[in-house]
Amino acid sequence: LFIAFEGGDGAGKSTQAGLLATALQQRGLEVLQTREPGGTVIGEKLRSLVLDHGQGDIDPRTEALIFAASRAAHVHQAILPALERGAVVVCDRYIDSSVAYQGAGRGLGTDSVLEINLWAVEGLRPDLTVLLDVEPVEGRGRRMQNGAEDRLESEPDLFHSLIRGAFLERAAADPAQYLVLPARTPVADLAATILKAVDEHLT
Ligand code: C5P
Repeated sequence: LFIAFEGGDGAGKSTQAGLLATALQQRGLEVLQTREPGGTVIGEKLRSLVLDHGQGDIDPRTEALIFAASRAAHVHQAILPALERGAVVVCDRYIDSSVAYQGAGRGLGTDSVLEINLWAVEGLRPDLTVLLDVEPVEGRGRRMQNGAEDRLESEPDLFHSLIRGAFLERAAADPAQYLVLPARTPVADLAATILKAVDEHLT
């Protein structure tokens, strides 16, 4: 079972991914909890290549291809082997993040970014995508609390609005694959709703 968490910066994806992974592990299931960009040695190097650069140092197409390369490595070296062993994969960000950030946010076009990524992963899609929907202003507050690693801090709210719109569009295109939840829901309630949805996929 392959579960992806998506959403804008400050949505609380990492918190929920962690809670879900722990709940599943407590039941004795093997869980691979991983994140993008990153998740493999190559992926973590590519992550720092992109994230350590200041804004404007890297052009959008290069950025999009680096994320896609990182994702290809992640799928082939970590996600597919785990799925083949019967593990549950819980992944913090996947293809929709690229569609939203590079496709919509950086203006490369959502269709082309989706296409290069589906090619990179040989079409592997999550069984369930949890989209934590965060309003741009709300996300800004949460990002500032987190402080760390925020190269997008100076992006205007418009950028974050474009990203949010692209995530919601992806979810609307395939409602059966998506669970869309407002990110401002209390943490414990979100975790319970997500676990219930995952249970439906496990049975
Ligand atoms: O999810 P996390 O906060 O670790 O993501 C790191 C950064 O990478 C975030 O600032 C996010 O906005 C950015 N990102 C991106 N394009 C992607 C995935 C993440 O710009 N495809």
